[in-house]
Amino acid sequence: MKTKILFKHLILIASLSLAFTSTARAASDDGIAVDQSKYANREVLPDFTGGECPNNPRGLTQINGNLYRHTSGAGLAVHSGLVLITTEGALVIDPAMTCTAGWLQDEIKKRFNVGVKYVVYTHGHADHISGAQVMQKAGAIVVANERAIEPIVGEKIPTAIPDRVFDKEMTIKLGGETVLLHRVAPSHSDSMIMVLFPKYKALQCTDVCENHTLPYNDFLDFYYPGWIDTLNWVLAQDVDVIDIGHYTPATKKDQLALRDYIVDLHQQVLDLVRKGQSWDQLYRNVKFSDEVKSWTAYESMHTLNILGMFRWVSSHRRGEW
Ligand SMILES: [Zn+2]
Repeated sequence: MKTKILFKHLILIASLSLAFTSTARAASDDGIAVDQSKYANREVLPDFTGGECPNNPRGLTQINGNLYRHTSGAGLAVHSGLVLITTEGALVIDPAMTCTAGWLQDEIKKRFNVGVKYVVYTHGHADHISGAQVMQKAGAIVVANERAIEPIVGEKIPTAIPDRVFDKEMTIKLGGETVLLHRVAPSHSDSMIMVLFPKYKALQCTDVCENHTLPYNDFLDFYYPGWIDTLNWVLAQDVDVIDIGHYTPATKKDQLALRDYIVDLHQQVLDLVRKGQSWDQLYRNVKFSDEVKSWTAYESMHTLNILGMFRWVSSHRRGEW
């Protein structure tokens, strides 16, 4: 009898460990492998996020279930990304800073006893993707759109070269969870992707989405039609929470307001340019709604936003000839 029970236990243990092994093997993605040897001796610039930063704020807070949000920096300087915790390891979006990436990795290990399995880049800008080299060295697979490699190499950004890339879509399966990566039209950079967590109705929409904030500066690395297309794509998704890579998480309603602002700004600047106004006349004649005037950074950003749009409009019209 005792032998029978022991045998039953052994079968149970064996099937449990099998189940565990098969789960462990389930992590997969349909990305394309990058030949890292091509970039082994590439030149890199000094890492502006690499100095010691013991006083730099950092955090890892729960959004819902296994979905978390990491932050580094404070106030308007905060950078953020979603983090998915699974039994097979964590998926981290945009570590943001080298000086906090080690902390984030340790924090995930300490709280959840797993390593970072995947790092996903939203786009090839240094202020979001710095620090990934720390996680890649510890074994993480770094994923990006294939168009992110050129600026990383060309601008000599001292972060990880992606291990796996994709053109239009990529799916990552990790610990029974599914993460969808979707390339959108050039909008803010031409390597921009959206990252969907369908189970949590959550989306990572870095730098293209806002939360009662004006887009940064003079629309750096900007493509007007693709930005609007991307916001329309965001509005069509079944999502409740949008992490925008900065500040605080937002909603679809906030993106509708942002789209209306950018469309209106574009139309006003286009109309004024067509009237023959020079920059010095034009920037004084653009009107902002009371709502936009109430957004964070309105005072410091609104003239720069006009300037960025003025540049876009000026180089995308031909006139009557
Ligand atoms: Zn950016």
